[in-house]
Amino acid sequence: MSETRPLHRSPRDYLVAEAPDEPVLFLSPEVLQASARRFCEGFPGMVTYAVKANPAEAVLLNLMAAGVAGFDVASPAEIALVRSLSPEAALHYHNPVRSRSEIAMGVAAGVASWSVDQPGEWRKLDGALPPGAEVAVRFKLAVSGAAYDFGEKFGATEAEAVALLAQVAGAGFRPALTFHPGTQCADPEAWAAYIEAAGRIAGAAGVRLARLNVGGGFPSHRMRGEVPPLDAIFARIGAAVREVFGEEAPTLVCEPGRALVAEAVSLALRVKSLRGMGEVYLNDGIYGALAEQPLMGMTDRIRVMAPDGRARAGAARDRLVWGPTCDSLDRLPGKLPLPCDMAEGDYLLIDGMGAYSTATVTRFNGYGGLRLATVRALNEPSGTGHHRPCA
Ligand SMILES: *Cc1c(COP(=O)(O)O)cnc(C)c1O
Repeated sequence: MSETRPLHRSPRDYLVAEAPDEPVLFLSPEVLQASARRFCEGFPGMVTYAVKANPAEAVLLNLMAAGVAGFDVASPAEIALVRSLSPEAALHYHNPVRSRSEIAMGVAAGVASWSVDQPGEWRKLDGALPPGAEVAVRFKLAVSGAAYDFGEKFGATEAEAVALLAQVAGAGFRPALTFHPGTQCADPEAWAAYIEAAGRIAGAAGVRLARLNVGGGFPSHRMRGEVPPLDAIFARIGAAVREVFGEEAPTLVCEPGRALVAEAVSLALRVKSLRGMGEVYLNDGIYGALAEQPLMGMTDRIRVMAPDGRARAGAARDRLVWGPTCDSLDRLPGKLPLPCDMAEGDYLLIDGMGAYSTATVTRFNGYGGLRLATVRALNEPSGTGHHRPCA
């Protein structure tokens, strides 16, 4: 990623002026800050950002400017990155598996909260952490509702969590619980089920929780017709905590990655070639910024524009779409309905691409060199183009 100059009003203006041949990620600081404010005002507790979703400096700085004061970090490199931008930001080191040297680095950087899900990892923390540090026991449930579940990798069972929480409190640390319902989770009841389990765990351990971290997993807008129910999720979390804990309600923390950053970035890809029966060859694919699409299902928030900025408005036609590498796995899932009048040199603009795009890019086959450009707005004023049939 090379540039962040706020030179252009919109992706269209940039594409027309610069005619880039490499993929471009357009970041709108305005959209990002609005998304952060929506979380900070809507969520009934502290909002921390899961850095892994998009660790670009411009993203972190804009979130800080909008009032995000804490960061969920998973590695020494993420800790150093956040610390280099803010000496005060709260660091929550919520990757529950750490080497002893990673723990020492986190202590030196002033990490405020540590997650733990297993006795061996707890023994590493106990003795290494300063008194008064928060230790959040991460637990898992078998609930669905997310695009994919993190419970396979991390999390104590309820019974294990009871024992760990009692040990944490007994050792004099600030006792907390944490969970992650799985990413792109659109079901408010998933959070409610975890919050009920948190009440059972705290009760069985005889521990009054200092905090409850309800994880990330909040959905972003991936399909045109499905607007994510963020307000319903926030309301359900607040209600569940009141029902379960009443007067003893812990303060809440959330750690969204995807839902904070996705909407603030649109990705522009270029059509390198149209071949065969209208198959499309792009300049980026599953080894680049589109790595998540085969896992999550293909987003349909795609616009096509000619190099002069006109929207392609031809009737949709289902097309096979390939990435640029010589690997035949480098193909987008299914067939994409794309305009019949699209041509070599056109741009595909994919909206809602801020999360898990730049973060996981590879340089396989020499591709993956993405540009980052800052723009004011991601959308054009509406009213451009209408659908018409192609011959
Ligand atoms: C990845 C991760 C998150 C963020 O998940 P999203 O689905 O992007 O919101 C939050 N917390 C932890 C511990 C994570 O590993």
